[in-house]
Amino acid sequence: MSLTDIKTRIAKAETDAGRDPGSVRLIAVSKVQPDERVEAVLEQGHRSFGENRVQEAQGKWPGFAERYGDLDLHLIGPLQSNKTRAAMELFGTIQTLDRPKLARTIARIADEIGHCPDLFVQVNTGDETQKAGVAVDDTDAFVAECRSLSLPVIGLMCIPPIDTDPAPHFRLLADLAARNGLDGLSIGMSGDFEAAIAAGATHVRVGSAIFGARVTG
Ligand SMILES: *Cc1c(COP(=O)(O)O)cnc(C)c1O
Repeated sequence: MSLTDIKTRIAKAETDAGRDPGSVRLIAVSKVQPDERVEAVLEQGHRSFGENRVQEAQGKWPGFAERYGDLDLHLIGPLQSNKTRAAMELFGTIQTLDRPKLARTIARIADEIGHCPDLFVQVNTGDETQKAGVAVDDTDAFVAECRSLSLPVIGLMCIPPIDTDPAPHFRLLADLAARNGLDGLSIGMSGDFEAAIAAGATHVRVGSAIFGARVTG
């Protein structure tokens, strides 16, 4: 696959779902990919990327930003409280807001630095103990709490359990977003972004289908 192929498939999925062309943002997930592969995608003009770890992102993105200008960086991995400030300085969007303490920390730092990234609340739709995210039943209250802190929550994000049909999880998240008046829906990865677009995704997070398999060491 290439970036162009993925964009073509996204455009087709938008049309098939009766969605406006360009209504889905492609986040290229560049975690643990070699710099050359990331640069190749930057050279094609793509500017939206997702990273899992603050420290890894700090190592590569300031340099790319100097060379390629304005970037649209999304944190899509768990955020430890002690990395919050660094994350808020680097990322334009944090997709993994998942607990009250983190919400309060972000609100306090936003006051200090005078800006706040866009935020997605991560929901643990599969109720998996090992996975981050607020429980489905706690989502409405948590979104309300974030709003009472004046946090710019723009949507919901989930990572469905592996090896299950993701569609019911996508629909559940879409329902939760709608009833909370949230437009953003970050769902869909390499294996299921078309199904996610059919379910209303506004952001898809695609890694290996663009960059190739992740090399882990
Ligand atoms: C790694 C990752 C992705 C991308 O996964 P692919 O299957 O490589 O597309 C998407 N979302 C999150 C949260 C991830 O950690």
